[in-house]
Amino acid sequence: MKFRILTIFPEAFDSYFNTSLIKRGQAKEFIDIEIVNLRDYATDPHKTVDGRPYGGGAGMVMRVDIIDRALNGMKGKKGSKGKLIVLLTPQGKKFDQKLVTKLSNYKEITLICGRYEGFDERVRSLVDMEISIGDFVMTGGEIPAMAVVDAVSRLIPGFLGKAESLSDESFNNRLLEYPQYTRPDVYKKMLVPKVLLTGHHANVNEWRGKESLKRTKKRRPDLLK
Ligand code: SAM
Repeated sequence: MKFRILTIFPEAFDSYFNTSLIKRGQAKEFIDIEIVNLRDYATDPHKTVDGRPYGGGAGMVMRVDIIDRALNGMKGKKGSKGKLIVLLTPQGKKFDQKLVTKLSNYKEITLICGRYEGFDERVRSLVDMEISIGDFVMTGGEIPAMAVVDAVSRLIPGFLGKAESLSDESFNNRLLEYPQYTRPDVYKKMLVPKVLLTGHHANVNEWRGKESLKRTKKRRPDLLK
């Protein structure tokens, strides 16, 4: 799967995308990440990408002509089959595991990162979808873009390798994952549940199923509705 990220801070991605599974996923060609500097599409000597809002008000907004030129430069057109152009904005559709699963079916996702006070409203007409990673406001779309790339990549077959399984994870079947333990089996009088030490797989699975349901009811009853 190809991810393309439009940003004015390309360097913000260096560390995370060169770490652990995201790094390996690129090396093994499960994912390809292209970072595009929006300033390359500015036409003035100062490489300006923003402007003052008409009508006044604090802050600057990102210009529609710059983003349009960048999308045209990479033949990004909304509505293209198998491709998705996403605007990252706190006003977008809330990002959750259901949306992650939906996104994992595309072959190419372009993510547009805002800065300042956000975008000229007309940018919205250039995209297929608007996504918010939660009801809070960040200074820019770079961390939201990393969150989308990370969560979607994990669902690409082979990306996680054999060691990790997706099937029991939180939000699968609308449940939270069961509690997990590792050595030592006793720590400061806190014990690992006996059933997990028995090696009896059927009993372990039954316990995990019950715990998963119990935990979901207690912490996230909304998932069970
Ligand atoms: N003034 C905007 C508003 O009130 O909706 C917020 C702009 S925010 C300071 C700058 C940029 O950060 C946004 O354009 C967006 O790209 C990104 N951003 C901030 N919070 C986000 C969130 N929860 N989800 C996705 N992107 C976010």
